[in-house]
Amino acid sequence: MSFKPANHIQDLQYFGEFGGVNPSISDASTYTFLSAKTMFDTFEGNADGCYLYSRHTSPSNLYLGEALAAMEGTETANVTASGMGAITAVLMQICNAGNHVISSRTIYGGTYAFLKNFTPKFNIGTSFVDITKPKLVEAAITKNTKVIFCESVSNPLLEIADLKALSAIAKRHNIKLVVDNTFSPLSISPVKLGADVVIHSLTKFINGASDTVGGVVCGTQEFIDDLRNVNDGASMLLGATMDSLRAASVLKNLRTLHIRMQQHSKNALYLAKKFESDGLKTVYPGLESHPSHELFKSQMNEEYGFGGMLTIDVGSIDLANDLMEMMQENNLGYLAVSLGFYKTLFSAPGTSTSSEIPEEEQIQMGLTNGLIRFSIGLDADIERTYNKMRDCMIALGILKNKPVTTNI
Ligand SMILES: *Cc1c(COP(=O)(O)O)cnc(C)c1O
Repeated sequence: MSFKPANHIQDLQYFGEFGGVNPSISDASTYTFLSAKTMFDTFEGNADGCYLYSRHTSPSNLYLGEALAAMEGTETANVTASGMGAITAVLMQICNAGNHVISSRTIYGGTYAFLKNFTPKFNIGTSFVDITKPKLVEAAITKNTKVIFCESVSNPLLEIADLKALSAIAKRHNIKLVVDNTFSPLSISPVKLGADVVIHSLTKFINGASDTVGGVVCGTQEFIDDLRNVNDGASMLLGATMDSLRAASVLKNLRTLHIRMQQHSKNALYLAKKFESDGLKTVYPGLESHPSHELFKSQMNEEYGFGGMLTIDVGSIDLANDLMEMMQENNLGYLAVSLGFYKTLFSAPGTSTSSEIPEEEQIQMGLTNGLIRFSIGLDADIERTYNKMRDCMIALGILKNKPVTTNI
């Protein structure tokens, strides 16, 4: 594949007001007009390049949006206050009362809760399906279906969506394919595979500093204009706007994303291979044992690898909790939700990030009690990290071999 997302970000040139190497930050909620007529035209959406009010948009937010649109290969993008601020606005924009959504059954807990518990208030129903089976997706389509929603790499089970197949189905039925690409920035470019709209939680890999929440919607100019419409745009009216100061800070972090993704992927692949050969039940798209390994390979921008997320199953929630606490005591990472940090983060999804999903549904989808989700950090010496993790697992009887280091 010839798409080079990091080049597209690199090629954007920004200067600050005084020739600064970073763009100036727009420190304003509202903007003056030289003529009353231009103000009226701006409200009507007919005055390009004029700013109105920062909930609508701001120069700093446009810079960040432009860079993320370049990354995803879309015409434009709208940044939001959080990933959920992006997801909820997109779904509310596309769907009217009586419409229907088809969603992957393994998705981020917040998205699941929104579709399961919140949108029914507006008479928007959702069918949750096994997204790895495009035939089931097509069979779930009704005359009211408006959206197929999935994650390119699903949370927390790391299932891979066949975006080309899903896009063909969406086009055949004239519905939109909306893809949450939070787990695989740069690695997967959903629009190049046929998605209509791409969403990210910037909170995770893209910002990479665990210091803020943020989100983005990447799409056509027409769709983004609709989201921002002062009369009926979901982003404008629901109001999940990113602050300009934060947009400037996320843009600076975005510039190292390609290097960080390569290191996250390299470290995660190393650990996944080691864990698997130790006999642990390990799920990582870069392992040949992953059911969608070949599919991921056929969809990826190779240089960024298979991503920083992996899971292991240690058999029970008690062992999972003991292991996570011991790894944290040994400074191998933090027992925390979220992902994409320099430090490794781990949590047990069944009792944390996916706890919105009822237990019996968790079992059905293969979300077991002993599952630990890792977001692998940027460790310079991943072999040392592995040896210490292995020692923790041996100390707890998860692995039977002798410890290889003695300093824990
Ligand atoms: C975290 C996350 C979200 C929600 O993003 P926020 O920034 O926390 O609102 C959505 N989708 C995925 C896959 C996530 O990991």
